[in-house]
Amino acid sequence: MTTPYTELGEALGTDFFSVRDQFTEEQWQRFADVRKFVDHEVLPDINGYWERAELPWHLFRRLPELGVVGEDIVGYGAAGMSPLAVGLVHMELHRGDGSLGTFLGVHAGLAMQSIAMCGSEEQKQRWLPSMSTMDKLGAFALTEPEHGSDSIALETTATPDGDHWVLNGTKRWIGNGTTADLVTVWARNTESGEVNGFVVETPTEGYSAKEIPGKVALRALWQADITLENVRVPDENRLVNATSFKDCARVLANTRGICAWMALGHATAGYDAALRYAKERTQFGKPLASFQVVQQRLVSMLADLTGMQLYCMQIGRLADAGKLSPTVAGLAKMNNTRTARKILSEARDMLGGNGILLEHHVVRHWADIEAIHTFEGTETMQTLIVGRDITGESAFT
Ligand SMILES: Cc1cc2nc3c(=O)[nH]c(=O)nc-3n(C[C@H](O)[C@H](O)[C@H](O)COP(=O)(O)OP(=O)(O)OC[C@H]3O[C@@H](n4cnc5c(N)ncnc54)[C@H](O)[C@@H]3O)c2cc1C
Repeated sequence: MTTPYTELGEALGTDFFSVRDQFTEEQWQRFADVRKFVDHEVLPDINGYWERAELPWHLFRRLPELGVVGEDIVGYGAAGMSPLAVGLVHMELHRGDGSLGTFLGVHAGLAMQSIAMCGSEEQKQRWLPSMSTMDKLGAFALTEPEHGSDSIALETTATPDGDHWVLNGTKRWIGNGTTADLVTVWARNTESGEVNGFVVETPTEGYSAKEIPGKVALRALWQADITLENVRVPDENRLVNATSFKDCARVLANTRGICAWMALGHATAGYDAALRYAKERTQFGKPLASFQVVQQRLVSMLADLTGMQLYCMQIGRLADAGKLSPTVAGLAKMNNTRTARKILSEARDMLGGNGILLEHHVVRHWADIEAIHTFEGTETMQTLIVGRDITGESAFT
């Protein structure tokens, strides 16, 4: 007999509506490879890193070995996955751990995609191959201390000076900010007034990054406060196709749908753990799973989880067909992070006291979903974006 509760983190393969029957072979392969990696390598190891707020470099370094770095970018040594496979990879990574998945989200989804979507061919050739192998790490610096949801009003400046640009300002919450080699900085061109994108190669004079302490979500990944003080960037590091905030928004729209998959991964971890625990845990002489209230709670979680899976499959299909709009991706992010919070809150309670112990693989997800709920557009901001679409009235600009 196995020791009770030791396998709580592992996948039960929850797929009540047979969503997985629709995967292509490529999608199956990506999904299966990452699932195996998560169950065999991530779960046995991650809790200590999360508790100590340490970066699990040995797990980060496995990502290029698994061939999942670079999302749907074709060429440059990048993964070149179908958009649906990108979603599946993120779902499985987050089922394992949010810090690991967000690390990839920042490096590939934000930093590499900024270069792929806004860089010239020469710039892509220069940076993407070493980012695909993770010899160079990326970060994406948009948010500022005074501008989060209204990042369009960012105050960091870029002033031309001969064949260079001089960057000044502060950035906040920047994932990989202390460890990245290539930081995509979004700054306002003092001549045109438009937002431009620059690749700052670190270390460089005037760039300093300090880890934000005391964080209780995604603890095995660091975010930084960044100061840019007269940082000189050569003109060849200005992303040539990032000429206004709209270009930055294009990059963010791409990752918004991925956040819905991330939330699905966290919720799946919570549901699977709660179901397994209810079968193993005995109270009043019977397994918890035999009590009606417990079954009702599990079924309610399953109904919510199945809805999230259907959301993800459809945004994946739309993305595969090149038809995923930022608004639809926003609705999926809003729905899935909100629902994941509900499922994880239930799961945490259904494990009783064990629900607040890291070793039972629920409370880490319960905390981590809070970050996803906020970053890349909060639940409220996604709501307002969808609200604008259906009413024709903007409540926030
Ligand atoms: C763990 C983590 C990692 C991150 N990584 C990065 C990164 O790598 N790069 C990067 O650039 N940024 C990053 N961010 C920043 C993230 O995108 C912002 O935190 C997010 O956009 C929200 O901004 P804010 O925290 O300033 O909150 P605020 O914008 O101050 O919002 C506070 C509250 O007010 C609400 N609100 C705001 N405006 C309105 C309105 N008009 N009407 C009603 N309610 C409103 C919000 O929904 C929220 O509930 C990260 C954040 C976190 C927490």
